[in-house]
Amino acid sequence: MRSLPNILVTGTPGVGKTTTCTQLVSLASQSSPPLDLKHVSINDIVKERSCHTGYDEELQTLIVDDDKLMDEVEKEIADGDGAGGFIIDWHSTAGFAVRWVDLVVVLRCDETSVLYDRLASRGYRDEKVQENMDAEIFGVVSEEAKEGWGEVEDGRVVELKSVQAEDIEENAERILLWVKNWVKDHGSKTNGE
Ligand code: ADP
Repeated sequence: MRSLPNILVTGTPGVGKTTTCTQLVSLASQSSPPLDLKHVSINDIVKERSCHTGYDEELQTLIVDDDKLMDEVEKEIADGDGAGGFIIDWHSTAGFAVRWVDLVVVLRCDETSVLYDRLASRGYRDEKVQENMDAEIFGVVSEEAKEGWGEVEDGRVVELKSVQAEDIEENAERILLWVKNWVKDHGSKTNGE
């Protein structure tokens, strides 16, 4: 039984996952009582634990070894005897077991020109920028999340707008509130009451 929820923060590259996760972890550490949320960058795990089989020049990205990656993710979130509190930052929900994750947050940037600028400023080639823009327009990550964790109405998948700078703070606060409510709802069970 987890004492803190695990949350998967997902969305198309450039929507603000890393910025939001960093803000959330920081807000949680300052809340009273402080909550020990841990940012798990799947990008870092892919690189540091060699969960890749090569580099795709066209897509300017590592070719991920999904099986190895998911083994590493499972190990990572089992850390602390599975106490939870992992904020997982990745552009896809594929491969994640539904039971690992209590909430999926899909960040959305529906202002295409804003997303375009963020992606282009990373030095991505036009094809890669376009591919990511299409994925965002068609809601690919969101659909994938709903297939795994149920429809948005179920409350396990939430979509949050991440267009302007204020959205980062607002989203981090909303997710933190969700964490606190989760703790309230589940606390009695973990305390054996
Ligand atoms: P991701 O992790 O989803 O790829 P990042 O958090 O790395 O995205 O954000 C990419 C860039 O876009 C960063 O420079 C970040 O500051 C900016 N950014 C992301 N979301 C927002 C937002 N809601 N408002 C303003 N800038 C944002």
